[in-house]
Amino acid sequence: MTQTIGNISSKEAIAMEDKYGAHNYHPLPVVLARGEGVHVWDTDGKKYFDFLSAYSAVNQGHCHPRIVGALKAQAEIMTLTSRAFYNNVLGEFEQYITEYFGYEKVLPMNTGAEAVETAIKLCRKWAYEVKGVEQNEAKIIVCDNNFHGRTTTIVSFSNDENARANFGPFTPGFVRIPHNDLESLKRALLNEHVAGFMLEPIQGEAGVFVPDTGYLQAAHKLCKEAGVLFIADEVQTGIARTGALLAMCGDCTCEKHCEKQASYRKPDILILGKAVSGGVYPVSAVLADNKIMDVIKPGQHGSTFGGNPIAAKVAMAALEVVRDEQLSLNARRLGDLFRKEMNRVIEKTDLVNSVRGKGLLNAILINDTEDSQTAWNICVQMKENGLLAKPTHGNIIRFAPPLVMTEDELMECVSIIEKTLLEYKA
Ligand SMILES: *Cc1c(COP(=O)(O)O)cnc(C)c1O
Repeated sequence: MTQTIGNISSKEAIAMEDKYGAHNYHPLPVVLARGEGVHVWDTDGKKYFDFLSAYSAVNQGHCHPRIVGALKAQAEIMTLTSRAFYNNVLGEFEQYITEYFGYEKVLPMNTGAEAVETAIKLCRKWAYEVKGVEQNEAKIIVCDNNFHGRTTTIVSFSNDENARANFGPFTPGFVRIPHNDLESLKRALLNEHVAGFMLEPIQGEAGVFVPDTGYLQAAHKLCKEAGVLFIADEVQTGIARTGALLAMCGDCTCEKHCEKQASYRKPDILILGKAVSGGVYPVSAVLADNKIMDVIKPGQHGSTFGGNPIAAKVAMAALEVVRDEQLSLNARRLGDLFRKEMNRVIEKTDLVNSVRGKGLLNAILINDTEDSQTAWNICVQMKENGLLAKPTHGNIIRFAPPLVMTEDELMECVSIIEKTLLEYKA
């Protein structure tokens, strides 16, 4: 590659974002210009391992040729029809994704937050029309430290003050309980107005919190007994990230939905986004069976771009890649190796307290206060050493590389992380 990939320097790019863009993010000071597989390059041509994967959107690796090929081909034929008319790709996609995940119907949207909003609306409508909850009384149970997106309704039930403060008035109808706590769930389910329980099977943004073994199955069972919809937000954990097609799959590594695994509990509503398109195009999806999805009738919900022909083609290619390249299996294998290696590194330094995660969704806990700059400084140093990761919630660093990584590449990354941690000076 040439030294000047973009036509401006990184200094200029940062200055322009700072001057003309809203300051709603605090990026690491690196300006990316190109990506391929597990690597990205900055404007000076310096190469990095991507250890964030755009928050797990790029599970299939940057610019996967099959996915980009699908985008290019469809872009030359037809891009958008709106849903005022049928198009000749959407039905094929709907059949593909419902069979892939084992549901009767899908409702396609664009972003994760939109899919979460869709699931909330679906759950409420089901509550009034099927379950028989009193008008405007429906409640949805959510977990402390949840992250489901950024819309007004979604931040209404967040307990992250930074994400919430001064955005009120807030949408009512949500009950928050501690994550990974069956007793609290049992109590919350006693309320007859409860229509759904929505959770991230592993909390990503909160800092990669994996619930106890058996929690998800038990929570699913409690919901079933209470006649309450179990709504899994797998926007970040889904699509092979945690070493299974869905985090709800437990220990099954099938590249296809299956119910062979005794531990599998099918969510009543499944929310997908991010890697459903391999990070190539904004595609999200809400999956449910007819008895739930059929409450939505023409005119009651929609999106101009949702289910457009490019999105449909891109998502089919992206899911095909997950299956053909056995990304669940790879994420599981490399994830086990990564945590083993990190535990070896942790033995050598006081800087890190622990590593946790599942598959290739992992985090290390830095031995410092939540408001300290240590995790940020370590990430800046890792960047200098050729690996990009970002702190989440102060002293936690999330590690989530593309799932197409090889074992040799992972070991190279481990040595970059190890070197950075061992050489780090406060
Ligand atoms: C990223 C994320 C969302 C929101 O997705 P956007 O595409 O950013 O709107 C929702 N839920 C979870 C669990 C996420 O990680």
